[in-house]
Amino acid sequence: MDSEDDMHDANDMEYLDDDFYSGETEDVPMDYYSDYDDDADDYFDNGDDSGRFESRRTEQNFTILKESDIQQRQEDDINRVAAVLSISRVSASILLRHYNWSVTKVHDAWFADEDRVRKTVGLLEKPVVQHAKTTELTCGICFETYPRVRIETASCGHPYCISCWEGYISTSIKDGPGCLTLRCPDPTCAAAVGQDMINLLVSDEDKEKYACYLLRSYIEDNKKTKWCPAPGCEYAVSFGAGNGNYDVSCLCSYSFCWNCIEEAHRPVDCGTVAKWILKNSTESENMNC
Ligand SMILES: [Zn+2]
Ligand SMILES: [Zn+2]
Ligand SMILES: [Zn+2]
Ligand SMILES: [Zn+2]
Repeated sequence: MDSEDDMHDANDMEYLDDDFYSGETEDVPMDYYSDYDDDADDYFDNGDDSGRFESRRTEQNFTILKESDIQQRQEDDINRVAAVLSISRVSASILLRHYNWSVTKVHDAWFADEDRVRKTVGLLEKPVVQHAKTTELTCGICFETYPRVRIETASCGHPYCISCWEGYISTSIKDGPGCLTLRCPDPTCAAAVGQDMINLLVSDEDKEKYACYLLRSYIEDNKKTKWCPAPGCEYAVSFGAGNGNYDVSCLCSYSFCWNCIEEAHRPVDCGTVAKWILKNSTESENMNC
């Protein structure tokens, strides 16, 4: 935009580099936790954090995340929920995805009404179908009888053969990110099918696709993170505080507005920019006529 902005962005970039490589990503895990937990989930709800905010490093209110940073944050959040709730990492991941990757929301909902949360996301405490110690079971999809080792079940106990599971899961993965909320094939059953089942039952290609959806979900379903909108850029941005400055400078050197995702436009407000863009596009349409 104008030269004053450019100057400012250049300074920000330098600062960002320092902070990025020396800070959050590597050696200060505790800082990351306190940073994250205190501001993050409630940020958009309360505006009285100004005192704390002043004590933070200058006005940097965002962090650029590389893929390895995203993975690390996701892992940390999953491990944290698993530890606090004493559940498996797979269950923690299912819960976090349901609550848009907000650790606080998971904790609040769980401790308010664990049974209801379990029901909503499909984390059963015990199977709904018990199998006597038989050596063979009948698959609920193809109705063939198989030795016990060729049958798998989700937490509910509904039995399906390995190849029916594989078909069921890989169809869902091909259909898109909805596979992250996959349930048992039994239409009356809500039991969640988590990443452990995925990794056990499908091809490497499908496993990778699923893992990719899971990573993308961490950015796209999370209110505090967005992908950098620059074409070809694979960095994400984690945005902390709403002090009225929405300008974000990505490591790819693109500057954009966190709020409206257009090119950085301070001090013009987002609404004005939207009107301006609309007017421009209408004008160029007219020119094409
Ligand atoms: Zn089958
Ligand atoms: Zn089931
Ligand atoms: Zn970028
Ligand atoms: Zn904007």
